[in-house]
Amino acid sequence: MAQRIDGRKIASQIKNELAEEMTRLKAENFRVCLAVIQVGEDPASSVYVNNKKKACALIGIESLSFELRQEASERELLSLITFLNTEPKVTGILVQLPLPAHINERNIFEAINPDKDVDGFHPLNIGRLWTGEKGFLPCTPAGILQLLKRSRISLDGKNCVIIGRSNIVGKPLAALLLQENATVSIAHSRTKNLPALAKQADILIVAVGQKEMITSEYVKKGAVVIDVGIHRDENNKLCGDVDFADVESIASAITPVPGGVGPMTIAMLMDNCVSISRN
Ligand code: NDP
Repeated sequence: MAQRIDGRKIASQIKNELAEEMTRLKAENFRVCLAVIQVGEDPASSVYVNNKKKACALIGIESLSFELRQEASERELLSLITFLNTEPKVTGILVQLPLPAHINERNIFEAINPDKDVDGFHPLNIGRLWTGEKGFLPCTPAGILQLLKRSRISLDGKNCVIIGRSNIVGKPLAALLLQENATVSIAHSRTKNLPALAKQADILIVAVGQKEMITSEYVKKGAVVIDVGIHRDENNKLCGDVDFADVESIASAITPVPGGVGPMTIAMLMDNCVSISRN
């Protein structure tokens, strides 16, 4: 039976370390302040925003909320970002996704001051990630790397297969794993014979966005399986992209949903916020 990788426990350790770091920083009069912008009132987004604000309070980071109407124009949002970019008190800016369809996400990512871009979506930070320079790392991939490292799962020379090539998970994760000297393959909807490719993985990371698609047919015996997916099953319970019950019997370690990758995303957002003081 696979070892369960406990994302809640690891995220909590990281947040405790950050709280200690913030206590030291405050004693040196250094303040960290995250501006969180939400456009519209999508209930799921409101939950995420509240969780982020709670995490800030726990760690000792100040947070400021900016709530724009669902109909707010792209120009309105851009002018708020322009103000926050130069506001000295604000050290990090986060725009909660998804944005309403009339706002172009890319324009928003590009408008945020790269030195306050705690989500790591600005093209400059994406470039820094691929060239191995210091910059903000996207939170979910950074969280996956921490889960592996803190579970003492070595990446050096390992075959890693990532299923999913999105800009927020699959692609940036590939850059991070390459830096750790893994051999990385990225699969997507046009990949031929996906089970055969996935079965070559020592570490299989699934960000496919399809409920419980990955069964033991895709997993080599003894592989480590990281499930990024979040879905609701027919009983409204949370589940992932991986068929947990089936894969648990063949993997050596596996992340559950909930309690795996999810908690790490907020922990790494907090780490990005505090990292501003480390430059
Ligand atoms: P996207 O929908 O942006 O990307 C899904 C990827 O999977 C695409 O590259 C797509 O291929 C590929 N894909 C879809 N169907 C198949 C298939 N049948 N076979 C092979 N590849 C396929 O998803 P995200 O990366 O944004 O998110 C993935 C999952 O992770 C979702 O469940 C999401 O909710 C969750 N998530 C969780 C987070 C967390 O904090 N835990 C954070 C972010 C996401 P193609 O490119 O060819 O279309």
